[in-house]
Amino acid sequence: MRWIKRPRIAFFSLTSCEGCQLMVLNCEEELRELSTRVDVVNFREATDLKRDDYQVAFIEGSVTREEEAEKLKEIRQRAETIITLGACSTTGGINALKNRFSPEYVTECVYGRNPPNRLLVENIPAMPVEEVIEVDYRIPGCPVSKEEFLGFVKALVLGIPPGLPEYPVCNECKMEGNICVFEKGVACMGPVTRGGCRAVCVSFGSICWGCRGLLDDANTDAHRETLGNHGLGDDEITKRFDLYSSFYIHRKGRCTKTTT
Ligand code: SF4
Ligand code: SF4
Ligand code: SF4
Repeated sequence: MRWIKRPRIAFFSLTSCEGCQLMVLNCEEELRELSTRVDVVNFREATDLKRDDYQVAFIEGSVTREEEAEKLKEIRQRAETIITLGACSTTGGINALKNRFSPEYVTECVYGRNPPNRLLVENIPAMPVEEVIEVDYRIPGCPVSKEEFLGFVKALVLGIPPGLPEYPVCNECKMEGNICVFEKGVACMGPVTRGGCRAVCVSFGSICWGCRGLLDDANTDAHRETLGNHGLGDDEITKRFDLYSSFYIHRKGRCTKTTT
């Protein structure tokens, strides 16, 4: 990564709930300091500025329309550095769940049996940004962690390549002092999910749903077996893995199943 004094950065949103951009805006205490280190030149949720002279582009959302793929190619031509922002753009996220079902079934789920034409949106199977353009760095999570986003900006400002943890959520879960939910008879995706969120969901009484995506060396077979040993049936195990990693798990073939 090249060091750039006061980099010009932009934020773009594809198909998403825009929760990751909201998380960026949620950095209220840090925004003032941030504005002295970087120039935000394009960020629809925060400013009317729409300049194209950005050097770094943060991309939120997955690609689900041809226009989005074209827009991405334009952004790639302009930006020196592309960083995905959140699960949708990094792994396809929950949007990619629709790829497992027929377009007719998905359309009916969203718009009902006889939707007016004006509601229908032409769309393609959902995919992560890296399927269309080269991506330089990835920030996972649904939504992204504020601290991790700020860490990436700090790395940009210093010209240091940012990195992601290579250990599972369980490591941080233990450091937070949580009692493992498996000990309470509840199944969790922490052992195969990339850490970096300080196991926030477990700390607040839930389980890890795997929003930060699978670790590169995740032993998914062993985890499937563990989930099975804790009472989950094959369908439920598949749903747990699919929730955030559906695109990569099913990329070899498009399933046309129409029900869960
Ligand atoms: S990753 Fe989650 S929070 Fe972020 S845009 Fe996608 S659905 Fe919303
Ligand atoms: S609760 Fe989940 S994340 Fe925490 S240690 Fe147990 S399996 Fe790992
Ligand atoms: S605990 Fe799991 S689901 Fe929750 S933020 Fe971390 S990776 Fe995502």
